[in-house]
Amino acid sequence: MINKIFTTALVIILFSCNTETRKPRIGITGIAIESSSFSPAKTYEKDFNIKYGSEIFTSYNFFDQSYIDKVDWFPTMRARALPGGVVAKESYESMVLQIIELTKQTLPLDGLFFDIHGAMNVEGMDDPEGDFIDRIRAVVGPKTIISTSMDSHGNVSRKLAEESDLITCYRMAPHEDAMESKQRALDNLVDRLITGKGKPKYKAWIPVPILLPGEQTSTRVEPGKSLYAKIDPLTKSKGVIDAAVWVGYAWGDAPRNHAAVMAYGDNRKQVKEAAETLANHFWDVRNEFDFVAPTTTLYEAFDRAFNYLNKGKKSKPFIISDMGDNPTAGGAGDVTWTLNEILNNTRFKKNGPELIYASVPGPDLVTKALEAGIGNVAEGYVGGIVDNRYSPPIKLKGTVHSIKRGDYNAEVEVVIKIDNNYVIVTYKRKPYHYLKDFTDLNLNPILSDILVVKIGYLVPQLYDIRGDWVMALTPGGVDQDLFRLDYKKIKRPMFPLDKDMADPDLSARILN
Ligand SMILES: [Zn+2]
Repeated sequence: MINKIFTTALVIILFSCNTETRKPRIGITGIAIESSSFSPAKTYEKDFNIKYGSEIFTSYNFFDQSYIDKVDWFPTMRARALPGGVVAKESYESMVLQIIELTKQTLPLDGLFFDIHGAMNVEGMDDPEGDFIDRIRAVVGPKTIISTSMDSHGNVSRKLAEESDLITCYRMAPHEDAMESKQRALDNLVDRLITGKGKPKYKAWIPVPILLPGEQTSTRVEPGKSLYAKIDPLTKSKGVIDAAVWVGYAWGDAPRNHAAVMAYGDNRKQVKEAAETLANHFWDVRNEFDFVAPTTTLYEAFDRAFNYLNKGKKSKPFIISDMGDNPTAGGAGDVTWTLNEILNNTRFKKNGPELIYASVPGPDLVTKALEAGIGNVAEGYVGGIVDNRYSPPIKLKGTVHSIKRGDYNAEVEVVIKIDNNYVIVTYKRKPYHYLKDFTDLNLNPILSDILVVKIGYLVPQLYDIRGDWVMALTPGGVDQDLFRLDYKKIKRPMFPLDKDMADPDLSARILN
């Protein structure tokens, strides 16, 4: 069907331009990171995985030859990092300047695919993505159609909304539709260029004064499920190209940190209605957002796990999310507080349940474990290098259960067995999301009694193996209890921080 549109459109262009056979020229660039300004961690350019030129196509699974053939592509540079602490100003400047120089060499561009996350915090900046797009716009010029693709936890400042001609974000959390969203952003861009329709005539932006942790806005459960389900039907109106809802990022402290809704297309009334429908629905259900699993203290989580295990032999593990230091949301990932509480708890000694802890970076212990070898005892420090506000580095001593080298993030992973606890220690931090992450280390999480993971809501593979699950409100750079965060610069009033606030103005701001 899309092929058909392209073919038809190409024919139209060929006829209307006589001898003109030029394909649209589309650039691809972006910097993607979610970085917490409440974490002591700092992110540098070296922490980014940077791709240049056609290597960037490998970031998108839909870039097969037929997709590549449609357009003259100019991928320049795309940087992507694991979530972390605030980005160093010099690293941000260095990456933006490289992108600007590379983009200059691709001009003129008809379109630009601007692939960002939207929750990058940079030292001393309130709106890094707004600054970035502003500077890119100055290079490509006002006529280039910029299509921005984002994470639904990104922030949409007025500047970012104004400079993006097309803009969208994920509709699922966890983000199972990440590729689909990116392809939608590109398909819309290609379509507007090939059909000659150009920029959308109307673009509606609505800031929504709500700030919630991602863990309360999963689209697996209500009210997130119904809110996001409203988007697709609204984009079926002929006059609407796309619409999107951003939850925003709660671990940044700037005026842009809040939820937002956008819609755009060629029919003013439909665009306005689509945006206002979504914004009003979001506001109406604001009190219904809650954590997707029971949330409690770590101690209560232990009690629940033992109650679960005491009910008889289980075929699936009790999972505890160690939420406060979730590295996939911007935590340092090396807070030792939870691990300390486990290892110092008499219930987790020799005759205790089989527990897997994933994970803690500990280059010292990893080095010692490599020296000792599998089956031998190793002793060394783990954690507390970046974030030791709640607990210092801790010394672990145990048997080396397994060793794995060559992981993209961790580089080296070892499992240290202490009593009945299997602690995954990494050279560099790594999130554990897939069963293979565990089975590669000779661990079987399905058969374990308790699985503790530095994660917020469970990703699908872990969700599916849970016997039961609680999310523990542990301390760290992405503390899920927003009332404990010392906000200074976000706009007020903000739901839920300001009780009994008046209904906000949710009318569509029509941008140029
Ligand atoms: Zn996200």
